[in-house]
Amino acid sequence: MLLTWIIGFSVLGSVGAVAGAAAMLLFPEAVRRRIVPALVSYATGTLLGAAFLGMLPAALGQAPVRGVMATVLAGMLAFFVLEKLVLWRHFHDDGTTSHGTAAPLILFGDAFHNFVDGVVIAAAFLVSVPLGVATALAVIAHEVPQEVGDFAILLDSGYSRGRALLLNTLSASATLPGAVLAYLWLDDVRQAVPYILAVSAASFIYIATADLIPGLHRQVTAWASTRQLMLMLAGVATITVFRLGG
Ligand SMILES: [Zn+2]
Repeated sequence: MLLTWIIGFSVLGSVGAVAGAAAMLLFPEAVRRRIVPALVSYATGTLLGAAFLGMLPAALGQAPVRGVMATVLAGMLAFFVLEKLVLWRHFHDDGTTSHGTAAPLILFGDAFHNFVDGVVIAAAFLVSVPLGVATALAVIAHEVPQEVGDFAILLDSGYSRGRALLLNTLSASATLPGAVLAYLWLDDVRQAVPYILAVSAASFIYIATADLIPGLHRQVTAWASTRQLMLMLAGVATITVFRLGG
């Protein structure tokens, strides 16, 4: 049943991403420095693909165009404000935005972010299973590099590996209550689904364009840029495959 899918994929998208990030830390630094940026490019494609090819068309099919688009706009502005408040932030592997930021704040902001990811996964599954799977994939793709960055910051702040893993897992597990609560609420109030999808799309578009893409611009060579674009297209293509399945 639907709740089982939602629980399964929100656990995969949260604790699974932490496990993926922890595994990534086993690789030598040089390898990690190649894999993580590649993953960020790929994640950008999956986020934009899921928002523009999955969530927005689904939302627009269920509610008036003006209402949906105004909600996307309001969502993007809200995420801007949240990021200003440091409640919402995506860090990158080299931790460029992290210096001076307290580790507890990172964990709190992350828990909030992961809670929202859970809401997003539930809303997508309420539209269809393929959209849910595509959305969960976009969550996993951007959470792995995010968690790698978090690990780096926590280790940098003097936490032991075990403690960093524990704290990251705790903040990641906020995805599950987010998903379950959203499912229970949205199952009752179906009219809210298109608007929650619109906010979800706004969160994906914001993460991709405001958090991930600026980091990608730090690589400027023609080859690196081409590779980034190819990986983004691969991310979009992955979402398309799942959407066609629906
Ligand atoms: Zn996320």
